[in-house]
Parts: sequence; C-alpha cells; structure tokens
Amino acid sequence: MDLKNLVSKKINDYAEKLFFLSNEVWKNPELNFKEFKAHELLTNFLEKEGFTVERSYTGIETAFRATFGSGRPNVCVICEYDALPKIGHACGHNLIAEAGIAAGLGLKAVLESSDAPKGMLTIMGTPAEEGGGGKIKLIKNGAFENIDFAMMVHPSPKDVVMSDFVCLCPLDITYTGKAAHAAAFPWEGVNALDAAVMAYTSISALRQQMKPTWRVHGIITNGGAKPNIIPEKAAMEYYIRAPSMSDLDLLKSKVTACFKSAATATGCEVEICEPADTFASVKHNDTLAKLYYRNIVDLGVKDMILEENLGGSTDMGNVSYIVPSIHPMFAIGSGEVNHTREFTAAANTPEAHTATLIAAKAMAHTCIDVLTTDGLMEKIKDTFKD
Ligand SMILES: [Zn+2]
Ligand SMILES: [Zn+2]
Repeated sequence: MDLKNLVSKKINDYAEKLFFLSNEVWKNPELNFKEFKAHELLTNFLEKEGFTVERSYTGIETAFRATFGSGRPNVCVICEYDALPKIGHACGHNLIAEAGIAAGLGLKAVLESSDAPKGMLTIMGTPAEEGGGGKIKLIKNGAFENIDFAMMVHPSPKDVVMSDFVCLCPLDITYTGKAAHAAAFPWEGVNALDAAVMAYTSISALRQQMKPTWRVHGIITNGGAKPNIIPEKAAMEYYIRAPSMSDLDLLKSKVTACFKSAATATGCEVEICEPADTFASVKHNDTLAKLYYRNIVDLGVKDMILEENLGGSTDMGNVSYIVPSIHPMFAIGSGEVNHTREFTAAANTPEAHTATLIAAKAMAHTCIDVLTTDGLMEKIKDTFKD
C-alpha cells in the first residue's frame, strides 16, 4: 500500500480511540504543569501501542516523550494538553494532543511497513503552553537536541498554514503597602490597591502610543482582603506582546514605568518579576509549510490559506529557532474564536474531531515526503539556516 494511504487507513481505524482520548482530556481540563490526568492517559495509550515512553521527560512532571524506530532523520510531532482557568479547553489543546497522537500512530505504521523509509519518530508531550512555556523548559533540558524537525497543529476559526505569532513576556506585579482601619485611621494606611488601579489606568492611556502590533493586557489577581482594611497587598498579572524582541524590550520599559510610577505615587513598594520565559515569535519553515499545504489540500481542505495573520503567541516559537518547525492552524467547523466558552464547546464536536484527523494526516504525509524524497531534509535545513 502507498505510504500516505497507509497513514490515512491507520488513523481512520483508530478514529474512535482517538476521539476517546481527546474527549477525556477535554472533560478534565488541567492547568499549566498540572496536566496529570492527560499525562497519564496519553502515556499509557502510547505505551500500549508499542512506543518507548519516557514519562516526566527531562524531569518536567507532566512532559513526555514517546519514540519509535531509530536513526535519522528524527521527526517530531508535538502534543499540547493544558487548558485555561474557568473556561476549560477554550484553546482546544485536547485536539492538539489528539492530532499529535494520530500523526504518531500513522507514522509508526509507516516505519513498520515492508518498504519503511529510514528514520525515527518522536512524539513530544509539551505541557503548559498557556503562559507557562513548557517547550522552553524542554529546550533548556535538551529535549530537542536530536530532533531534525518539529511540527504541531492548532485549532482555530480558520485554516491557515503560516500565521504570525508575536513574542510574549509575562509579568507578575506585587504592590506592598500598609494595612489600617479604613474608616477610623485611613491616614495610617498605604493603599496597595490604589497602586494597582493607577498602573492599570496608566497602561490604558499608554495604548494610544502603542504600535498596532503591540499588545498589553492584564488582570488584578489580588485587590485586598476586606473593605474595612486598607489593602496592604495587591497583585497583577500582565502579558506584553510585540513582533520582535527589540520592540518587546521597548514596550516592557514603557509598561514597567507605569508600574513603578504607581508605586511612587502611592508610597507602595513594587516587585515586578517574569514568572515564565519569554515566548519567541514563530519562524515558519517555508519548505515544510508548503509541503503541509499541498498535503492538506490533497486531503480535501480546499480553502486552506498559506499565509494570514491570526495573532497570538506560542512557545512553539522558541522551538522554531532551535529546529525547523511549522505550526499550522486548522478550522474546527465553527466560526468561534479561541479563549471563549463557545470555542470550548466547539473543541469537542464531531466536526472538530474530523478536522483534527485530517490535520494529523497532513502532518504525517508531510513527514513521509521528507523521509522518502532525496535532498528534501537538506532543503529544509537550508531554509532553516536562511
Ligand atoms: Zn490559547
Ligand atoms: Zn493554544
């Protein structure tokens, strides 16, 4: 059987099992680095399917690596499985897990076939994409050292192979003031909530002078304990984003000035820290992206767009500076946008499942192209160096 047909058949045969995995992950939304149920479910499944599985890979509790075969090239498909607080799988990472596993199963069938090409397969389980930077920790721990290229797919309202993703720096801000009776001795207090509110409004004013591609958004996570106590502590979480590291540094300096000036105005102390590593922009590998595009169009997704900007950030950006990578977006049969309750619902429908399996086949077919075409791996590496 033709290798691409073999992949499609394998994935179709496993459709129900794959839907089960995705549904289980969806039903049990878990946050950054706490994806214990998903980690257990996915690693047990992969082990049963004959992969060599390393749980808590490189010491990150909810990361995993599953491999099959040996030698080079070593192709890597990536699973994500973290959710968002309160609104569940509103980014559809259950589908990213499903797609990674599906593509892996298909490629394993290829490597086991009588006319198997040379090479090996890695399925990487990467936790904490939503602001935690799990992939950046994996990179630091050497997880991508023997990988030749990496790919993942992400659900979205639209089918786009190469969408722009900007750099992202998370900031945690804590103001410390002094508690006092808010009615009897308010002059004895130093109001930390006032500092947070001032910083919030200063940043809102700053937006008029921000470039259209910059984004700053935050929440107040602690605004005091009780109305009759002057708040002695206030805390905020912010994300700042820009297309380049130099723009991000400039924006960070402007935003930091807002946080510090609010502290000065109120007499509070301020502490600003970066709770996770900065996400890099995504450097799409043009050669890989075009292969994926041709494969998914061949699979019947006729309105796939090669390049369009949908916005957002991902820690896959950091991977894309380490090894040749792609991060295509795929539509899931709903016009809803990510990080909404409506998207959470859309991420567990039969339409979403069907679209996920097509995207998984396109990833596996792209890997087959690379494994079976002379000179293609070199071309991908040349594109990467450029
Ligand atoms: Zn998201
Ligand atoms: Zn996401």
